[in-house]
Amino acid sequence: MNIKELGEFGFIESIKNKFSDITLNNIEGIGDDCAIIEIDKETSFVVSTDMLIENIHFIREKITPYKLGRKSLAVNLSDIAAMGAEPFATLLSIALPKDIEKSWCEEFLNGYHSLSKEHTVMLIGGDTTASISDIAINVTVIGKAQNKNIRRRNCAKTGDLIAVTNYLGDSATGLNLILNNIKTDGYDQQYLIEQHNNPSPKIAQGKWLASQKGVHAMMDISDGIASDLMHICTSSNMSAEVYLENIPQSDSLINVCKKHNWSATNMSLCSGEDYCLLLTIDGDFPGDIIDKYREVFKTDLFIIGKITPSVGDKSTIKYIDKNGDSVDINNGFRHF
Ligand code: ADP
Ligand code: MG
Repeated sequence: MNIKELGEFGFIESIKNKFSDITLNNIEGIGDDCAIIEIDKETSFVVSTDMLIENIHFIREKITPYKLGRKSLAVNLSDIAAMGAEPFATLLSIALPKDIEKSWCEEFLNGYHSLSKEHTVMLIGGDTTASISDIAINVTVIGKAQNKNIRRRNCAKTGDLIAVTNYLGDSATGLNLILNNIKTDGYDQQYLIEQHNNPSPKIAQGKWLASQKGVHAMMDISDGIASDLMHICTSSNMSAEVYLENIPQSDSLINVCKKHNWSATNMSLCSGEDYCLLLTIDGDFPGDIIDKYREVFKTDLFIIGKITPSVGDKSTIKYIDKNGDSVDINNGFRHF
């Protein structure tokens, strides 16, 4: 069997199983957006790592080094936001081909520095090596949270409402413009490409949401909700209903998808890199959280569905269109 047949999540599951005989007290390992290392009864460190590989995650000619520097950090900070934690330190490892320009490296670091400064995150180490031809970037990020505020994927309950903090699919549509070499001088195109190249981690939103008792499960969306909501469902042993009419989409996404005959639904549900938050809210008192969120962040929390009980131990997601009919949706992004 090759790795494609095993699948990305099958491979991760096999790693988890192999190492399940080595555990330590007060550490939660593989399975959530971050590992959790308890410091004491009140507080924990949370830790996560993510890689960006040239020609898998980015095309060198299609993103400025400044924005790549920001994005390398942003995608990692997003996992800290998903836990309801606050980041304070990162490690940056980078493999560079020998012919890379000094100015490229400086601009990459300027970008990484600018987002570090915005979130007061200290760069505490890393590693530097040569590569044969492609750039590889790995960032590790460490955050801190109050134990009572840490939010996990496995805490969704029957009757919870499912919410997202932002429009879905802008980044995927931006990527489609980039990959198809489509002229990008219009507002819509530039907005979508910016969402793809320069995502903003939702640290303040994650921290605030995690301080609300009614917020149960939370994660960030990196692979599209078809995949990521399934993570919440399987780890909580729940299922879900998603109402397609409620999926928040930007006007830019709708205009561009219409123009190129792309499926806006596919962009919003099945493709990755939104880096916004996906959460479930206690169905008994959601109004309070939704209203307060709007007051604090001046934008809506979008309610896209609800958590339902699983039949047996199999989690399923039912996508329902405006006529109440079930619609088939592809899986989200998988590396293998
Ligand atoms: P995310 O999209 O939030 O970064 P992933 O889907 O990449 O999360 O990973 C899911 C879980 O599997 C995380 O807890 C992550 O730490 C763990 N994981 C992924 N790859 C590996 C690996 N090679 N070794 C150990 N754990 C891994
Ligand atoms: Mg994540």
